[in-house]
Amino acid sequence: MKQGFPTALDNSLVSCHSCHLVSKAPAVHGKGEMICPRCGSVLHQRKPRSLSRTWALVIAAFIFYIPANVLPITKVTSLGHAQSDTIMSGVIYFLQTGMWPIALVIFIASIFVPLAKLFILTFLLISVQRKWQWRPKDRTRLYRITEAIGRWSMTDIFVVTILVALVKLGALATIDAGPGAIYFAAVVVTTIFAAMSFDPRLIWDSMETNHE
Ligand SMILES: [Zn+2]
Repeated sequence: MKQGFPTALDNSLVSCHSCHLVSKAPAVHGKGEMICPRCGSVLHQRKPRSLSRTWALVIAAFIFYIPANVLPITKVTSLGHAQSDTIMSGVIYFLQTGMWPIALVIFIASIFVPLAKLFILTFLLISVQRKWQWRPKDRTRLYRITEAIGRWSMTDIFVVTILVALVKLGALATIDAGPGAIYFAAVVVTTIFAAMSFDPRLIWDSMETNHE
């Protein structure tokens, strides 16, 4: 393992969150803010209050997840007949009409990925709080996955907006975004912020302190 190596923290080096310039932190730490000499951002050894911020955002996202799936995400009106669809009823509709690739994409992008991301972040938060020693490299990898796939959950919102724009052109049918769409967007955005506020170096910090 890497435990024999000196860390930036040990050498009082600080990496800038914005431009990633590594600079030497003043020996006396505490009063006053450290400023990045290159871009002027405030420097922190670790993202400040990373755990509590991430927890707050993850819990908020879990709460938004409920109305996002219970409330209709689209409302289609064709020839006077209105039909509202939730994400899941949309998936079932596409399955029943034989368009299973679309059903699969919606299921993965809108139901599976957001939930998987939230569970991974919860797992990482608990593992850091409990100072687990378990496979830090794999946990860092898990974190990287949540960061990388985050933006793809927006696919569903794009699909709804494109559908709304396309179908608005036709006179026979209208399609509107339902209230579920707002909550779904809220899930995606809060999860992206949650992933951003988590500092993956915390995974390694507990390895260092336990080693000593
Ligand atoms: Zn900077």
